[in-house]
Amino acid sequence: MSTYNGFDGAYRQRAQDELNAMWTSGLWEPPSECTVCGQTSGAIHGHLEDYSRPETYVPLCITCHLILHMRFRQPDLWEEYAAWIRAGHRPDPQTQRGGFYAIKKGFLVGCSNHWPGRKSNPARRATYLDALAPVRFTHPNAPADQPF
Ligand SMILES: [Zn+2]
Repeated sequence: MSTYNGFDGAYRQRAQDELNAMWTSGLWEPPSECTVCGQTSGAIHGHLEDYSRPETYVPLCITCHLILHMRFRQPDLWEEYAAWIRAGHRPDPQTQRGGFYAIKKGFLVGCSNHWPGRKSNPARRATYLDALAPVRFTHPNAPADQPF
């Protein structure tokens, strides 16, 4: 896991382990519906902007989640995906493994046209994706000794 928002891979993994423990124990409801596209099948993750507060996770399908984390490397494709979502599309459900490969392939090709999905939502002016920082930054709660 690479550094994100100033939290290094080990820090992020600890937060993920805590999330998994809370979901497994039943103390917290596991994520079941993507906040962005409404997907309820396949792999649904908990996304964190602030890894010091795992309870603030945002449920995201694997497609929205992986693409979100690739936005700095592929900003044009990221914008294209965000627009596709705003227009009301929902990516098809993906398994953990299948989603990773499908998305990685799409990004390598540099084209979102083959993202499998359909129009399932009303068009919206903005989604959670549009509220994310478009450039790398260090979260105020990130440990001070870590570069982003
Ligand atoms: Zn989604």
